[in-house]
Amino acid sequence: MPTTRKSSGRHFWLPVPDSGGPGGTRHAFRGPRWDGSATDTAVCGEEAALAQPSEMDWCTFPTCRACTETLKAEP
Ligand SMILES: [Zn+2]
Repeated sequence: MPTTRKSSGRHFWLPVPDSGGPGGTRHAFRGPRWDGSATDTAVCGEEAALAQPSEMDWCTFPTCRACTETLKAEP
C-alpha cells in the first residue's frame, strides 16, 4: 500500500494585510494555490481581502495561530 500523505485537502498560505493599518497575518486558505480572487475565507474562518503579497509581507507577517491549529487538528 502506498504511503502517500493522507491529506484531506490542499491549502496554501498567503499574507493578508490588516485593514486597519500596517502589518498583517499569514493565513492558510483552501485550495492548491491562490486563484487571484479578491476575497477568500481563511482556514480559521476569517474573511480576508487578498492581494499579491510582497516579499516584505512574507517576511514580516506572523503566521496565523488559528489556521495552524486547525490544519494540525485535521487528519
Ligand atoms: Zn487564519
